[in-house]
Amino acid sequence: MTNNELWQTALGEIELSISKANFVTWFKNTTILSKEDGRVVIGVPNGFAKEWLENKYNTYIIKALQSSQDDIREISCTIYNILEKTDAVSQDIDAAKAPSQIKTAYPMVGNAILKENPANEANLNPRYTFDNFVVGENNELARAACYAVSQNLGNAYNPLFIYGGVGLGKTHLLQSLGNEVIKKNPEKEIKYITSERFTSELIDAIRSQRIDKFKNDYQKIDLLIIDDIQFLSGKEKTQHEFFHIFNALYQINKQIVLSSDRPPKAIPTIEERLRSRFEGGMIADIGQPDLETRMAILRTKMAEKGFYLEDDVIKFVAENIKSNVRELEGALNRIIASCELNKRPPSIKNVGQTLSELISSGKRKGIHHKHIIKAVANFYEISDRDIINKGRRKEIVRPRQVAMYLMRIELNASYPGIGGWLGGRDHTTALHAYEKINRELEVDEKLKEDLVIIKDKLYSL
Ligand code: ADP
Ligand code: MG
Repeated sequence: MTNNELWQTALGEIELSISKANFVTWFKNTTILSKEDGRVVIGVPNGFAKEWLENKYNTYIIKALQSSQDDIREISCTIYNILEKTDAVSQDIDAAKAPSQIKTAYPMVGNAILKENPANEANLNPRYTFDNFVVGENNELARAACYAVSQNLGNAYNPLFIYGGVGLGKTHLLQSLGNEVIKKNPEKEIKYITSERFTSELIDAIRSQRIDKFKNDYQKIDLLIIDDIQFLSGKEKTQHEFFHIFNALYQINKQIVLSSDRPPKAIPTIEERLRSRFEGGMIADIGQPDLETRMAILRTKMAEKGFYLEDDVIKFVAENIKSNVRELEGALNRIIASCELNKRPPSIKNVGQTLSELISSGKRKGIHHKHIIKAVANFYEISDRDIINKGRRKEIVRPRQVAMYLMRIELNASYPGIGGWLGGRDHTTALHAYEKINRELEVDEKLKEDLVIIKDKLYSL
């Protein structure tokens, strides 16, 4: 039995034991990359699938594999693009010997199912759901509007426009909406995209003269979610194309959901007709959470991370970190990392110390892109020049991506700006680096810890 046959047989069994939507979402474009000593390595298209297959579906998969080969004991997943990488597989992967097999590895599952829109194509992160979104006065309306839209696509509010400051839960809500629709109607065509990525895809389409295909693809979508629409400001060509896509979808009652850090009125240099389209639907804002909501959010995040803090410590953290939920979550991560690294319990005193470092680092006015380059270079034991120069060695590429990620997160820098600092690289390089690290942080604990340490160094330089 070849690995491919083994996997197809296992998929057949798994398909029977989980819901169709889940099956399509998590098992499309997967393949067996290697099998040795009872250990099977599965290639999966992205970090979300890796996380889910390894954690949630682990036992299903092992059982299904064992029904063909009972010596299989263990599985692990590796991110692997089945459709693009068929020619570039390393020799130790036996599938490389038969690339044609890989290309057809999944259609046996049933073409009809696979045409549907799985979460990974929709670009949704299953981590964000309505269930783990804490409702407070600050976000009640926005949450209700997103929920209503998820239950009645195209007919509740269209377009739905959500706005609010950084880190207050816009992306979480937009993604929850998409995930809810996938759960209920897996046949719907959904796309979540940031306005920056939209712009970059559009530019690619124009460059490669595929603009008609680009537009056609968008017009098939039932639910189009565009995050951080403020970045369209000033990009005339992008706005122009977006306007046409918007109108085409709107006229046939397709749902459009948008977010921005400010209301449509306050987005400078946005085309007037686009602005009035935005204002034609429902606009809901998200404000800053009050103390109680902040405490409830901390409790939810703790439960997700399996970490426990006493009530008085929760209150202490919530009283000290007020302005945004991302910082609140960041504080919790720092507290967890610091307790684990230093093997200390999360007492008020210890937590207080971690917070005071964090709060003083929060006054990050003094931090400059050069500090980030230095901190990253020190950590990875390479030189500042290595990060800036063009070298493409693996030991350098990763630190460079980390540096770009940190510039985005810590300095809120624009992608063209980041590209400029790093030896005049293109903005798309910075965008890809940011997205790559962001994705990997979801699944790579080591990277997460590295970043905590680099940030510590950064703020103590
Ligand atoms: P924005 O897109 O507005 O900048 P995000 O949606 O990325 O903010 O939220 C930042 C972080 O805070 C995310 O990890 C998100 O899960 C979390 N978050 C924000 N609001 C809530 C909430 N009400 N309940 C639970 N988590 C929240
Ligand atoms: Mg966001």
